[in-house]
Amino acid sequence: MISVRNLRKEYDEDTVALKNLSLDIEEGAIYGLIGPNGAGKTTLLRILATLLEPTYGRVEIAGVDALEEPERVHPYIGFMSDRFSLYEDLLVWEYLDHFARCYGIAPRQRRRLIDESLELVGLTPRRDSLVSSLSRGMRQRLCFARTLLHQPKVLILDEPASGIDPAGRLEFRELLKTLQSMGHTILISSHILTEMTDFCSHIGILEKGELLVSGPLEEVFQQLHGGIVVRVGLLGRHEQAARIARTHPAVRNVTANGADIEILFNGPKEEIPSLVKLLAQEDVPLIRVELVERDLESIYLRLASTEIS
Ligand code: ADP
Repeated sequence: MISVRNLRKEYDEDTVALKNLSLDIEEGAIYGLIGPNGAGKTTLLRILATLLEPTYGRVEIAGVDALEEPERVHPYIGFMSDRFSLYEDLLVWEYLDHFARCYGIAPRQRRRLIDESLELVGLTPRRDSLVSSLSRGMRQRLCFARTLLHQPKVLILDEPASGIDPAGRLEFRELLKTLQSMGHTILISSHILTEMTDFCSHIGILEKGELLVSGPLEEVFQQLHGGIVVRVGLLGRHEQAARIARTHPAVRNVTANGADIEILFNGPKEEIPSLVKLLAQEDVPLIRVELVERDLESIYLRLASTEIS
């Protein structure tokens, strides 16, 4: 649904925001673009939303060349900027009606689409409220309703969850899942790493204008870890356990972690029982086997620090 090839953006001689970036996002994905401030997230999203021209590269959205024919791409995309402003002295429905007119939506459809998008973001009870009376979270939701108004196939959301309270974030996550089930493709940027793993089907880590990793969540984790980490609790005989574990063809490394050993397993989950069986056969005093929680934040921090050094 989104295809980016060799994208480069130089703001000036010294500021290269994107370096030869290539990326594919398939239809129906929720793609989380993760990176620290200044990584180039907003630059990439604004180029995809046709608001910014790259220095060079190619962008296709729904098969349309977004740089050559931006007008043809507009119906497909809904963009929500990290900085947005609303018209304070309009009513909520008037605000959406204004944008529906801008999108050239026929009067007959306008009311229905406004009502549907208000319903989706949970603002139906505030339909006739003044924009200026809305709370911060509601304003964000109104902006999101505006993004959804013309029923775009692709949603491009720049840090949409910033400034929302935890309850609001949870609702937002549910909303994204609903939108995904409705067939939307969603590209969402964030520096709130741990939250992204709950609902993203794909992730990419962007740093200093380069995509360090990108792909389905599971694959990216496998890539970052070089496998799955299996933590084994033992009552003793750690060295023997490590030696036996290493004889398994999928085991890449074994490290000690307190009373546990951590086994880096580079194979499908289905093969983990064969590792456990191997250990049990040798009477290793096993008391616990668990897959270590994949903590993207630590992976990300590790990647970031590797980059810096
Ligand atoms: P992020 O969204 O990940 O924080 P940005 O895309 O905003 O990153 O910025 C990437 C780099 O480009 C940063 O070094 C930033 O200072 C620079 N940059 C962003 N916008 C401009 C601009 N309009 N003019 C010059 N430099 C810019």
